[in-house]
Amino acid sequence: MPERGYYGQFGGSFIPEILVATFDELIQAFEEAKADPGFWKAYETLMGSYSCRPTPLSYAENLTEHFGGARIYIKREDLNHTGAHKANNVMGQGLLVKRMGKSRVIAETGAGQHGVATATMAAKFGFDCTIYMGEVDVQRQRPNVFWMERLGATVVPVTEGTRILKDAINEAFRDWVTNMDDTHYALGTACGPHPFPEMVTWFQSIIGQEARGQVLKETGRLPTRVYACVGGGSNAMGVFSGFLDDDVELVGVEAGGRGLDTGAHAARLASRDASLGVAQGYKTYFLQDDDGQMRETHSVAAGLDYVGVSPILSHLKESGRVRFAAATDQEVVDALSLTIRKEGLIPALESAHGFVQAFKEAPELSRDDVILINQSGRGDKDIFTVADAFDDPNWRQFIRDKAEEYDAR
Ligand SMILES: *Cc1c(COP(=O)(O)O)cnc(C)c1O
Repeated sequence: MPERGYYGQFGGSFIPEILVATFDELIQAFEEAKADPGFWKAYETLMGSYSCRPTPLSYAENLTEHFGGARIYIKREDLNHTGAHKANNVMGQGLLVKRMGKSRVIAETGAGQHGVATATMAAKFGFDCTIYMGEVDVQRQRPNVFWMERLGATVVPVTEGTRILKDAINEAFRDWVTNMDDTHYALGTACGPHPFPEMVTWFQSIIGQEARGQVLKETGRLPTRVYACVGGGSNAMGVFSGFLDDDVELVGVEAGGRGLDTGAHAARLASRDASLGVAQGYKTYFLQDDDGQMRETHSVAAGLDYVGVSPILSHLKESGRVRFAAATDQEVVDALSLTIRKEGLIPALESAHGFVQAFKEAPELSRDDVILINQSGRGDKDIFTVADAFDDPNWRQFIRDKAEEYDAR
């Protein structure tokens, strides 16, 4: 039997001695919740009344016509409260925090989306909330910082290291060590020490459970392939969970950035640039140099811009169950434009990575085939990046006018 929390050679729990008791408490609470059908019921009820669950399945009729191959279906995680699948994870952990009788939550955030989701959960449950965010990210993601603060969270800019996501994670762990009794660390993706990869996947598996039933009901068959973007891996694990035991091909799409041969990407499993390592409490593939220093990553989608990846996905790659591909920034912007124009849907830049690979492969399949794409989030948040990518002159003028308006005050 493999040790608990291991997936093949990946995963584990590499934590300071002082946190062992806190992790044991969390593991026990999670195991009890998982064994209690009432807990999942309460979770489903909460997500139904607060976050649009079950999210719909949309038939992309125009894109299907356009590509002339497989029928394309889209799982609409963008319709969750706060605009992405992240709500599933944070609301689930919120219920667990209540069950453990704790009163404070902390979280790391890079792009700010997980910070906003966690601050929303804390407001709803009445928890105190502190969000750690690299100083560079605080400057880059002002709108999300604005909303976190309105939601009552304290946002702490992290000035250590390179002042980005990985530094925020370290700082969150430091906080947890000193405030274990009343505090829960709501980690944002299917990474980190056990039980986080398993626990986050469990909450996100609601996506795959729903999607499997919806595709069957709608088409009378299972999908040929399922596509999802991969940052830390939580939305991918969520949708893949519904199909792991089926004869369904699963495809994870990472950030190819400026191209896999440029080094400016975040492809851990689709490139040869990552190597096995232990960092941030777990063992997986990391984009690191020969000395184990984390490399700088790049993606047009801030949510995919991470050096590690879920140990469960590393294992599913090694065992051949999940195939991995990468989409470049330019391909992503093109797929986004097409989806907006053809379907009136605005996927997040992260989600659009999955669309890129699905669009490449749809024409080689037949009309009997069904493919499913997980639209992990909505793209409204990306207006600054997307407007820049299209170099929209009216948008540029709008920003200038706004700046002048402020200067004049
Ligand atoms: C955060 C985010 C991601 C990446 O996180 P995963 O854990 O890989 O799912 C993907 N899509 C959206 C919309 C996000 O906000």
